[in-house]
Amino acid sequence: MPNSAEKATVCGRFAPTPSGRMHAGNVLAALMSWLSAKSAGGCWILRHEDLDTSRTKIEYAQQIEDDLRWLGLTWDDGGVAQNCFQSRRFHIYDQYFDLLRNQATVYPCFCTRADLMAASAPHASDGRVVYSGKCRNLSAEDIATLSAQRNPAWRVAVPNTNINFTDRLFGQQSVNLANECGDFIVRRADGVAAYQLAVVVDDALMGVTEVVRGSDLLLSASQQIFLYNQLGFAAPQFGHVPLLCNESGVRLSKRDRSLGIDVMRNSMSAQQIIGWLAFTVGLIPKNEDVSAQELLTEFSWSKIAKHQTVQVNCK
Ligand code: GLU
Repeated sequence: MPNSAEKATVCGRFAPTPSGRMHAGNVLAALMSWLSAKSAGGCWILRHEDLDTSRTKIEYAQQIEDDLRWLGLTWDDGGVAQNCFQSRRFHIYDQYFDLLRNQATVYPCFCTRADLMAASAPHASDGRVVYSGKCRNLSAEDIATLSAQRNPAWRVAVPNTNINFTDRLFGQQSVNLANECGDFIVRRADGVAAYQLAVVVDDALMGVTEVVRGSDLLLSASQQIFLYNQLGFAAPQFGHVPLLCNESGVRLSKRDRSLGIDVMRNSMSAQQIIGWLAFTVGLIPKNEDVSAQELLTEFSWSKIAKHQTVQVNCK
């Protein structure tokens, strides 16, 4: 039995989608994840999530790396040099998909977008459409007929029980996946692993012990813990940090040009950006220049604002 002095080494990660330059919200997620892992003496890895190869480019991955280096957020492994790209790992996701398939926990789904959006579809507490389970009990005959018409996506069947976990920022979570999302997709109709499966397989195989990212993925944590359990992996700890929103309360996107890292890099130093973000989420009491390295001694989850979103000025 390990004693308490032999704590498992902390390993955090940043897993951007290289579909463009980062904005302040992405930088905040990277900074919090880096601080959480590094302040615990852990390592921090970088993985480019380019499952959707039509939207992503190696040039964006290289640019993200250049921006992270400029910000002082250095990583220990992964990245372009180590070829840490999801698009090069499809064969690994396939093995774990087969494991789910052997357990008979997945089934083919032939629903079209129109089927999914049908007015009668149940809705979760926040209005998202919950999958109705329409294809859950198709007969072998139905499957053969429908397969001749189109390739199915594959869903994992979720039980009507709660997934419980403690988020580093939002505390105790208890989520009934059947009510909140229903059976979810683990392989897309084009044969590529869906985000939920790929992220679990990667984080587990890469030894990640804590996942720190934006609060938009809080529900995903429950879906992912369910997959960790199904695949026999130990789940990491999760910490979701506030999302930055523009003046209209809408999550920052590439349209909020002034908070794109390219624009910010032209008029601000790395210390100014880091200091402003740390101040914005309550980590430091004043908006002042500070490096990521200097923040290591300041970092504590208890200081971070327990808000799903924080509004910032994009003017
Ligand atoms: N690739 C996702 C994104 O860029 C993040 C996934 C994660 O951190 O789990 O939004």
